[in-house]
This record gives sequence, structure tokens and C-alpha cells, in this order.
Amino acid sequence: MDFQNILNIIHKDCNRIENHGKIANYIPELAKVDPDKFGMFLLTNENESYEIGDSQEKFSIQSISKVISLTIAAELVGQDLWKRVEVEPSGTPFNSLTELERDKGIPRNPFINAGAIIIADVLLSVLDDPINDFLTFIRKLAGDDDIYYNEKVAESEKDYGYRNTALVNYMKALGNIENDIDDVLNFYYHQCAIEMTCEQLARTFSIFANAGKKISSKKQVISAKSVKRINAIMQTCGFYDEAGEFAYRVGLPGKSGVGGGIVAVHPTAYVVAVWSPKLNEKGNSNLGIHALEDLTNLSGLSVF
Ligand code: GLU
Repeated sequence: MDFQNILNIIHKDCNRIENHGKIANYIPELAKVDPDKFGMFLLTNENESYEIGDSQEKFSIQSISKVISLTIAAELVGQDLWKRVEVEPSGTPFNSLTELERDKGIPRNPFINAGAIIIADVLLSVLDDPINDFLTFIRKLAGDDDIYYNEKVAESEKDYGYRNTALVNYMKALGNIENDIDDVLNFYYHQCAIEMTCEQLARTFSIFANAGKKISSKKQVISAKSVKRINAIMQTCGFYDEAGEFAYRVGLPGKSGVGGGIVAVHPTAYVVAVWSPKLNEKGNSNLGIHALEDLTNLSGLSVF
């Protein structure tokens, strides 16, 4: 497969499109990013890599971090985790409060904000030093120590995170938060404020394309069974209320973030990360989805 040629075609195609998306501005620090950035990095299970555009520039991974926190929590807590959060698609926006009352404070899945806040609470209870341990785990997965929290982004989100504050308070009132709510939010905002390049993201997520083994070192990090489950949650819940549309257009498990990043995996062939900050009305990268749709159409490699 000539992936470099495919990426070059995608790059040209994306340059041609008029991008009507809008950069996330509810976190003021994110609104400062150049809206026209575009990068993509693809890593095959044979450890061959291909890239275009701003693939080596760091951006805020935001909700993409929710997959990594879930991975750690699932490994450390096991089946009991699923008493605190479910695995059903929500069909509602990422920051929605509406279903929590009906569901008695148990969020529908770990990738909407409510669910990710529960996972942050779980990690706060089981990790010695959550903020450091989380970063260490990501660096290990990426095989790269040049990954950091952006404290300004974490602060900015804390200052304007009214909806997240409402979510955590409501879940605390319903008995599904164990720790101090400020500590939970502080950890949650930090995990979202990690900055990575497309390459670092693709390398971090390579375990999900390779049955739990890192593509570069072949080291088994998590079990193939966990990968199957987490990929299923990415497929059904990775794009907020646009998960169906993403499956229909792209056909890969993946996860987006409001920083404009998307990472997607073909469970036996490759992992790909794309970044373009302008978001569609559902909060997913507009060009990012377009690029991935081109990729699976041109390569013929989707899970369907
Ligand atoms: N930190 C963001 C928030 O809680 C994450 C949103 C996202 O990327 O979906 O609003």
C-alpha cells in the first residue's frame, strides 16, 4: 500500500476544501491556536511511518486523553469499574448534563465528560501520584519523554469549566464521586491539557492497532481482550453525538478532542493521528474527519 501517496492526495484534497468549522473558544487558551494547521501521521503494524503537514507540531489532546485514562483504570480496577460508568453511546453532546438524573449519576460511557470525570475520580483513588503517574504512562506508551502538561490550558479550563463543575457536583450529590471535587477536576483538566504531536499520538495509540503490543518494541502493554473492548467503546462512543456518522463515513474506532485532534485505529493494520483545529457543530475536527474518510476510501482499509 502506497500510504505516502495516499496522504499526499489527502493533503491536496484538504487544501482545496473550504473549511467552515470553528475553533473551540469555550476554553480561551485553545482559541489562540492557528486555525489553519493541518497534520497527519500514520504508523503501520510493520512499523513504517508516513506523514504530511504539521505532523510534528504539538497540540492539546483534550478528550483523546480519555482513552488513556480508561486504559489505566480498566487495568487497575477491572470489572468493578463498570459499576460506576456504562458503555452505551450517549447520543448527546460531550458536556451534556441531561441524562445524569435519569441514570442516577452513572454516566453513559467513559468518553463523555461525565464519564471521564468518573474515571479521573477512580484514578485519584488508586494511583499514588495521579498527575505524575498519568504523564509517565503516556510517555512510556509514546516511547518519548518530550510530552508535557500545558499548565496555562489546564488553568484556563479551570477558570471557565462551569459545566464540568456542575457535572462533578451533581455526581457527587448522587454518590458516584469519592474524592474532593476540586482534586478530581484538577486531575481531569491536567489530563486534557497534555500536548502531543500527531506522531506522538499515533505511537501512543499503536497498542490499539496491534492487539495490545507496542508497534515499535512489540512489548505487550495491555491484553488483546482489553484492546477489543476499548476499541469497541471508541467505535461506539468516540465522537460524542456523531459516533454513528463517523462510523458511516470513516469506519474505524477512534477518539476526537476539542483541540482538533483525532486518532483512529485499524485493529490489525495501522494507527493514524490527524490534527486540524476547526471543529464542526458536534465538536469534532471538520477536516480531520474528511481526511480520515479519504484515507479509508483510498486505502480500502476500514473495519467494515
Ligand atoms: N477538557 C474538555 C472539556 O472538559 C474536553 C472536551 C473534549 O475534548 O471533548 O470540556
